[in-house]
Amino acid sequence: MKPRILVATTNQGKLRELSSMLDVDVDWLSLADFPAVTEVIEDGDTFTENARKKALGYAAQTGLWTLADDSGLVIDALDGAPGIHSARFCGEAASGKDRKTVDHLNCEKVLDLMKDIPDGQRSARFVCRLCLADPDHILLETEGLFEGQITHQPQGENGFGYDPIFFVPARNKTVAQLTHGEKNAISHRGNAIRLLQPKLIELLQE
Ligand code: IMP
Repeated sequence: MKPRILVATTNQGKLRELSSMLDVDVDWLSLADFPAVTEVIEDGDTFTENARKKALGYAAQTGLWTLADDSGLVIDALDGAPGIHSARFCGEAASGKDRKTVDHLNCEKVLDLMKDIPDGQRSARFVCRLCLADPDHILLETEGLFEGQITHQPQGENGFGYDPIFFVPARNKTVAQLTHGEKNAISHRGNAIRLLQPKLIELLQE
């Protein structure tokens, strides 16, 4: 029987993205396959802590190896904000709003906070931490980074989150102007997954 790995998400897009980029012979499950599990609260102070909490928490509830990720945007001029608060940086304004609107409000807040920050001091990075755990131990961890600059205005229609305000100098485009494939090839999530792949293959062979 193939090994089974639970991806700690209810988002089928994220499940597809992770499982399609990880070229290993396993049966991938998502939290949608376990409607009775209780949500693990992401109340850690770092991406690492949150990824560990989710991986260990869902592994403990299901008995399965569980892969969890935590990601966000880190802006140097804002002392690392939005960081672990990336998803709801705009705060109360997010209440009851759909994802696209929240993304837009989050970008507006960043641009407003950075309106007086000159070019040359607008460096930022996306960070993705991945953690694979069994119910008792962390088995593997990786981190992927994606370096860029915060723009002065949103540009591009693709992607999600902060993609329209994240400029990639090597491509002379924002992430929202890249195709999905172009983004995966250089993104924080892509990089974290590429680091995980050989380690996971080795672990599955043990
Ligand atoms: P999560 O780890 O998927 O919950 O991501 C947290 C938040 O970080 C998202 O809601 C986005 O606001 C931001 N984020 C993470 N990855 C990306 C990305 O690839 N592009 C743009 N925003 C991102």
